[in-house]
Amino acid sequence: MAQQDKPKGMCPDCLGHYRLVLGGVMVRHGFTAKNVRHGQHGGFHTGPCQGVGQQPIGTERGNAYAVRLAARLRGWAADEEAKPAHTTEQALQVQIREAQDCHFSRQVRRGQPISAEQRAAFSTPEAFRMTSVSGWFSREQIEWRRGVLERARAQRVESWRSHAGALDAAVAANPVAEVV
Ligand SMILES: [Zn+2]
Repeated sequence: MAQQDKPKGMCPDCLGHYRLVLGGVMVRHGFTAKNVRHGQHGGFHTGPCQGVGQQPIGTERGNAYAVRLAARLRGWAADEEAKPAHTTEQALQVQIREAQDCHFSRQVRRGQPISAEQRAAFSTPEAFRMTSVSGWFSREQIEWRRGVLERARAQRVESWRSHAGALDAAVAANPVAEVV
C-alpha cells in the first residue's frame, strides 16, 4: 500500500497530520506545532506528543480532547499572568546558577578535577554569591536578566493562548460527522 493511501488524521494535541494506527488513533509522533514553544510547564510537550493514541480531530473523542486541552492551556496562561513580575532577587538567583554551571563546565572541559572544598564554596547560590557576586554581576546585568525572564513568560502565555485558539478553530472546522 502506498504511503498516501494510509489513513491520516489531525492530532487533537499538536494539530499535526499523522498516520492513524489500529483503532483509528494517532501514530507515535513528536510535538511539532509551529510557532509554539512548550516544555516550560512541568515538561509538558517535550518528547513524544501527548496526543499519541488519541482519536483525531473530527471525531467525538478527538474534538473533546482538543477542547479540554484548549481550556487547560488558557488556564495556564491566566495563572502565569497572575504571578507577580520577577524580582531582582529571582533574576540574581538565575544569574548565579548560570555562573555556577559555567564555572564548573569550564573546569571540567579543561580536565581539572573539582575538589570537595570548591564544591562546598560554589555549591550553594549563597556561597557562590559571597565569593563572586560583587565583581561579577552589575545592576544592569541583573535588570537585563529580569527582562529576559519577563519576556520568556510573556512568550509562554502567548504561545499557550495561540495554541488554544488553533485547537478551537480546528474543532470548529471539523465537526463530528453524523453517524448514520
Ligand atoms: Zn500530536
